[in-house]
Amino acid sequence: MVKVDLLDMTKFDHDMTDQIRARPLTLLPILERAVQVRASHQDVSSDLNLCPDLPKPPQFQLQIHSKENPSPLRLLKSSHLGSIINVNGIIINSGKTTIRGKRIVASCRQCGHEKVYTMSYGFDGLNLPLFCEKLKDSG
Ligand SMILES: [Zn+2]
Repeated sequence: MVKVDLLDMTKFDHDMTDQIRARPLTLLPILERAVQVRASHQDVSSDLNLCPDLPKPPQFQLQIHSKENPSPLRLLKSSHLGSIINVNGIIINSGKTTIRGKRIVASCRQCGHEKVYTMSYGFDGLNLPLFCEKLKDSG
């Protein structure tokens, strides 16, 4: 996991930070990929799979935090949906931190057919299919 402070990011590139605040669901996977490439000491050419014999670098999760002044909850609007915001509030309930999969492999109990699901960011869950694709296609 890599932790990044929004204020540090703003000092580096204000426009880029505004884009990340506005479209985190699109840009966070790109940033995580960039961290992965940088951490593996690869250059752009090896990122293009020109050297498939190289070991695959580990994946990283980017965690963004901020100490900037929070916005009041009453100013939240539907336009903030899908963007990064900083709000002030009291936590009235908390649970154990859970690990969330980025890729989930579902396997059929009957035939062993496997299907890979790539999870999106945010709170969306995964609705597993009720029937096996392989059995549905053949039957
Ligand atoms: Zn099956």
